[in-house]
Amino acid sequence: MTGSLNYYKVKMPLVDPFTTSFGTETEKEAYIFELKKDGISAFSESVTSIGPFYSYEDNTTAFHIIKSYLAELVLDAPQPAEFIARSSKVKGHNMAKAALEMLLWDYHSRKSGKPLHEYIGKSKGYADVGISLGIDRKEATLKKIQAALDRGYKRIKVKISKGKEMDILTPIREVYPDIALSVDANTDYRLRDLEILKKLDRFNLVYIEQPLEHDDILDHARLRKEISTPICLDESITSAERAEQALEVEACEVINIKPGRVGGFTESLKIAELARERKAHVWVGGMLETGIGRSYNVALASLEAVDYPGDTSPNDKYFERDLVRNPFSMENGTIRPNSGTGIGVDIDFEMINKVKIEAGTF
Ligand SMILES: [Mg+2]
Repeated sequence: MTGSLNYYKVKMPLVDPFTTSFGTETEKEAYIFELKKDGISAFSESVTSIGPFYSYEDNTTAFHIIKSYLAELVLDAPQPAEFIARSSKVKGHNMAKAALEMLLWDYHSRKSGKPLHEYIGKSKGYADVGISLGIDRKEATLKKIQAALDRGYKRIKVKISKGKEMDILTPIREVYPDIALSVDANTDYRLRDLEILKKLDRFNLVYIEQPLEHDDILDHARLRKEISTPICLDESITSAERAEQALEVEACEVINIKPGRVGGFTESLKIAELARERKAHVWVGGMLETGIGRSYNVALASLEAVDYPGDTSPNDKYFERDLVRNPFSMENGTIRPNSGTGIGVDIDFEMINKVKIEAGTF
């Protein structure tokens, strides 16, 4: 029997507005998907947001692609590899594809009776956690850093933007000369800004994330020769093939894996293995996900191959009340993946009904 695919578009306020070099987000608007077949319900979410500012995809494009081309490909709950083969005729739109590909990972791990992190194998059983802080006033940032250190976060990452980098980093390093600190530029610089980027070397950063264009590899390779701060790529890595090219030309020594950006879990697992083979570092990023998307990230971040702390904060950093009844808690800077089958979430339908602005079935 074929199954059905339900969707819920939800809108939830963020606990704290999140500012990056491309703008400020005050609420989370996301599509949640539910695949029902043979008595199993699997869940996932699209990591797209209101506008195409992180990448070219947004909620509207993802919904269009899923409705018009992808939904019909998952109703019989194929294996993720089969879905990837079927959906390959659609060029790009990785976030739309990932929303459904990950749904199938949840479905099949539930069917096997195992939690997702055990189903994929090679899990440490926990994930090291770092915090990602948006651009804020100096006092607020220092306060948030202290609170994060008190809670045990293993790495502090701050967003920077061109022209503000010194004002952001100088006070942090004055107060915290030795903490593991990294920065995320979200594509705000170009090679012509080399003199500014060179100045960041003095801050002894674990890495600078995505300083240059969202689809660039080559200029990052050029930049890497000029600065001593290691480069981490996020936006530029849209597949395992791109990751291989980036490592081949030495454009980065660190990769931030976001399953949504690379088309799902299958590709994410490939990138983690590739990085291990090439002696690069990897960690798992975040896209302000609800507890549903977050559960996938934590399972992935628990892989042995993932060696740096990820942006996999507990749910309460983002939402007062999440869509799940079993939010993650952090202990000594680590989070354990859910122990139930699949992504192990206890869905709070009351909350979904409260915050949904649209719903339907394919
Ligand atoms: Mg980033």
